[in-house]
Amino acid sequence: MRFSRPLVTALLCGALLSGCGEKTPPSEKAVEPTSTAAAKINATPLVTRPDAPGLTANYAALRKQQIANVDYRISVDLDGESDTFSGRVVAETDIARPLRNPLTVDFTGGEVKSVSVNGKEIPFEYNGYFITIAPQHLPQGRNNIAIAYTHPYSTDGSGLHRFKDPQDGNVYLYTHFEPYKANRFAPLFDQPNLKASYTIDVKAPADWQVVTTSREDRIEELADGRKHWHFPATKKFSTYILPLHAGPFVVWESKAGNIPLRLMARRTLAPNVKPQDWFTFTQQSFDFFQKYFGIEYPFRKYDQLIVPDFTIGAMENVAAVTFNEAYVSRGEKTQAERQKLANVIAHEMAHMWFGDLVTMDWWNGLWLKESFATYMASLALATNSEFEDVWENFYLRSKQSAYQADQLATTHPIEVPVPNTAEAFSNFDSITYGKGGSVLKQLPHLLGKEAFRQGVSSYLEEFSYGNAELKDFMDHLGKAANQDLSRWTHNWLYKPGVNTIAAGYQCWDDKITVLLINQSAPKEYPVRRRQKVQLGIYRLQDGVMARVAAVPVIYSGAKTDVKEARGQPCPQILTLNDEDWGYVRTSLDNRSIAQVSQHINAIESSFTRLMLWQSLFDSVTDGKMPLSEWIDFALNNAGAESDINVIRLIASHLEAASAYAHRFDIAEPLRRERLEAIENFVWAKINTSPAGSDAQKVWFETFTQLAHTDQGLGNAAQLLSGELAIDGLSIDQDIRWQLIVLLNRHLHGDYAKLVKDELQRDNSDRAQNYAISARAIRPVAQEKRAWLDNILNKRDQYKLSQIRAAAAALFPAEQLNLYRDMSTQLFGAVPQVSDTKDTLYNKAYAMLFPIVCSKADISQYAEALKQNRDLMPALGRVLQDRRQQSEWCMAMEKSQRRGSTD
Ligand SMILES: [Zn+2]
Repeated sequence: MRFSRPLVTALLCGALLSGCGEKTPPSEKAVEPTSTAAAKINATPLVTRPDAPGLTANYAALRKQQIANVDYRISVDLDGESDTFSGRVVAETDIARPLRNPLTVDFTGGEVKSVSVNGKEIPFEYNGYFITIAPQHLPQGRNNIAIAYTHPYSTDGSGLHRFKDPQDGNVYLYTHFEPYKANRFAPLFDQPNLKASYTIDVKAPADWQVVTTSREDRIEELADGRKHWHFPATKKFSTYILPLHAGPFVVWESKAGNIPLRLMARRTLAPNVKPQDWFTFTQQSFDFFQKYFGIEYPFRKYDQLIVPDFTIGAMENVAAVTFNEAYVSRGEKTQAERQKLANVIAHEMAHMWFGDLVTMDWWNGLWLKESFATYMASLALATNSEFEDVWENFYLRSKQSAYQADQLATTHPIEVPVPNTAEAFSNFDSITYGKGGSVLKQLPHLLGKEAFRQGVSSYLEEFSYGNAELKDFMDHLGKAANQDLSRWTHNWLYKPGVNTIAAGYQCWDDKITVLLINQSAPKEYPVRRRQKVQLGIYRLQDGVMARVAAVPVIYSGAKTDVKEARGQPCPQILTLNDEDWGYVRTSLDNRSIAQVSQHINAIESSFTRLMLWQSLFDSVTDGKMPLSEWIDFALNNAGAESDINVIRLIASHLEAASAYAHRFDIAEPLRRERLEAIENFVWAKINTSPAGSDAQKVWFETFTQLAHTDQGLGNAAQLLSGELAIDGLSIDQDIRWQLIVLLNRHLHGDYAKLVKDELQRDNSDRAQNYAISARAIRPVAQEKRAWLDNILNKRDQYKLSQIRAAAAALFPAEQLNLYRDMSTQLFGAVPQVSDTKDTLYNKAYAMLFPIVCSKADISQYAEALKQNRDLMPALGRVLQDRRQQSEWCMAMEKSQRRGSTD
C-alpha cells in the first residue's frame, strides 16, 4: 500500500504547514477524480523546505507526489590525488501535473556549477543542503535535469569515502549512503520510494578497479593515462543502496551457480584474506535463498568488497556489498568468528531480495528489512552451512542485545514513526535488529514454517522493484497461514517492552497435576502477549540431567493453564523457553534454581546450560544475586564446561563481573581478592584448555581484557617478547597489539616504547588505531586531557575511526577516578558536540561515558539531560542509557552488600 493522497495531505497539514485551513479541505480536492488540473494545483499547499540538513518524512511524501519514473545518468571524475571530485548528474523524471511548489534536489556539502533543464541552463538556489528549482522551469511531462557539481571526498565512512593506505600510499574509495548520504555523492532525490535506474560512467586512474551494480560494458583509455569506465543502466532501486567503489583492489573470482562472484580487498590487507571461506559461505547462502524465496537472484553478478574505515559491519549495496575490515583476522579465526563472517555474508545477501528488490517506503520500515535479514541469515546458516550451533549464536548475540535494550527507558516499539532522516539513523539499534529478528524468529513456530516461507515469497513476488509497508508484509503472512495477524502485529510491533513468564506447578505421584504459566509485564508497558514456546522438563538420571519431556504451548494473557503438561514427569528443572523459540524473559522456580546450582554441569543439553548460565547472570544484574556469590559459583563450575558457546558466555560474564567489581564501593581487600581469583582462573584455563582450541583463544582474549596483577602483566609482557610460550597459542599481529594495549593500560614495563617499536614493525591502518587505543587507555591524567582535546577540538586532524578508537579506550571501569576528574569538561562539551549535528561524531563522543555506580556520578547524567533536552539522539539516548545502567549498578551493589553481611 502506498500513501494515499488524503493521508499525505493530512500529514503535511498536521506537521509541516501553515495555510492548511483553506476553505475547501485540500484532501477532498486532491482525490476528486473529475477535478481539473488547475483545481489540483490549487489544492496542493505551498511548501517551503526549511534550510536545514536532512530530509523529513512529510517533505519526502510531498516530493513523491511531484515526480515519478526517475532515471539517472551519473558521470564522475576520480583521481588519487585531490581532496574533491567532480561529477555531472542527469536526472530524467516525469512530472505528472504542473508543479505548484519548487522541486528540490538533495545535495549536502558540495558545490553546484550549473543546472540545466531540458537543455537550457536555468537559475537555481543552493543552500548547502539541497538545490531548489522553481516550478516554472519544470513543465508537465518528461523532464531532463542536468547538474554539474564538485564535492569533497569524506573521511568519516559515509558519502564517497577516501582512504589512503599508510603502508603503500594507495588510495581507495567506496560509497556508504544509508540512510541519507547518497546526496553527498551526487545531487539526487535521496528517499527510498523514488526508485530509479542508474547509468554510470567513471574516469579513474589506470590501475584501479571500478565497481558498481552493473558490470562495465566497455573501458576506454584516456589521453591523460586514466581509464573511462562505462556501466549500462541498472534495474530500478533506491538511492541509499547505490554503490560506487574504486581503487587498486586485489580481486578474487568465483561463481555461485551462474552468478559471477568477486571478492576484493586492498593490497596490503589481501595476504590475510581467506577467499575460500568467503566464496563457500556466499555459495551456500545463494543456494538457500534462491530456493527459499522462490525468486532467482535479480541483479546478475555479486561483488563483495572489504573496505577500510567502515563504520558498521556491512552494507547491502546492490550487487556490490561492502564489509568492515574487522572481518579479516591477521591470525587464525575461531569457529565463532568464522560463523560471524558467514552470518554477515548471509545477512547482506538476504537484503538483495528483502530491502533491495522490495524496499521500505520510508525509514519507519527500516526495522523490517533489518529484522528480516537478521533472522534469515541465521536460518540460512542453520539450513545450509557447516555450523551446527547457529541458534545458540543467535541467542548469544541478537537475543541478549535485544533483552538488554528492551529493558532500558530508551526502548521503543519495533515499528516507530520516523519524522526525519536523523531519527532514521538512531534506529539502527538492538531493537531494530535484535528484537525484530527475535520476534520474526518466533513466527514460523506460530504460523508453521512453510506458511511463513510462502508468505515471504509471495510478498517479494508482488512488490519486486517497488516499495512496500509493514501491512503488505503481514497481509501476505496472514493469508499464507490463514490467520488474522492484526492483534499480533499490534502487540509485538507497536508496543515496546519484554514480558516475563514464570511457572507454578503441582505434582502428585511424581507426575504434574497442574501447571500454570504466569505472564507479567513491566509497569510502563502493560501489554501481555501471545506466543508459542516450549517447556523443558529435566530429571537427573544416572548422573545426567536429561530432558525427559518437551511440551510446546501457546500462552497468552496473565495466566495460561497448560493442560498439555498434565501427566508429564514432575520436573527437577523446568525451563520455560526451551531451545529459545520465544522472545521472553523467564523466571526459574526455586526448585529449579536449587538443582541448577548443584547440577549445572550434569545438564545434557549445551543449549540449556547456555540459557541457564545466562539466567544466573541476569539475576546478578537484576540485583537479586550478590555478584560475589555468582563469581564463586562461576569459578567453581566453569572449569568443567566444555561447550564453546557456554565458555564464551561465561568468559564474557567474568569480564563484566570484573568491571562491576571495579565500580562497586566495596572493601578494597575483598575487591582485590575476587579480581585476582578471576584472573588466576582465566590464566589457568589458557594453560589447561586443549592446545590450539577455540576455548584457549577465548580465555586468552578474556585475559587481555582483565589481567591486572604484576604476575599477570609479567606473563603478558613475556608472551609478547617471546620469553614465554603457551602450547597451542599463537601470538599473531592483532594479539600482539592487544597485549600492548593491556600493558599500557597498567603502565607496565617500558609501555611507551612498546608502542613506538611495534609501529615500526606494523604500520598498517589497523596498527595506528591500536596505537591510539594504547595511548588513550593509559591511566595518566595528562594523556586523557590530550585525547579529549583531540576529540573535541582537533577532530579535523583525525579520521572518525581514530576518534572512535580513542573514545572507546579513554575510561575503562578501573579508571573511574580519572573520569571523575574530567567529567565536568566531558559534560560541558555535550551541547557543543550535539550542535555539530553530525550523527557519527555524536555516536563516537557518547562512547566516552561510562557506567558509574554512585549517586553523585549519576546526578551528573541527570543534570546533563535536564539541561540539554534536545540532544542528537545518537548522544542523548546513550546518556539516558548510562544513567539507567548506573542505577542498576547501584542496585547490584546493594545486593552485594546484603549478600556479604548476611
Ligand atoms: Zn542489514
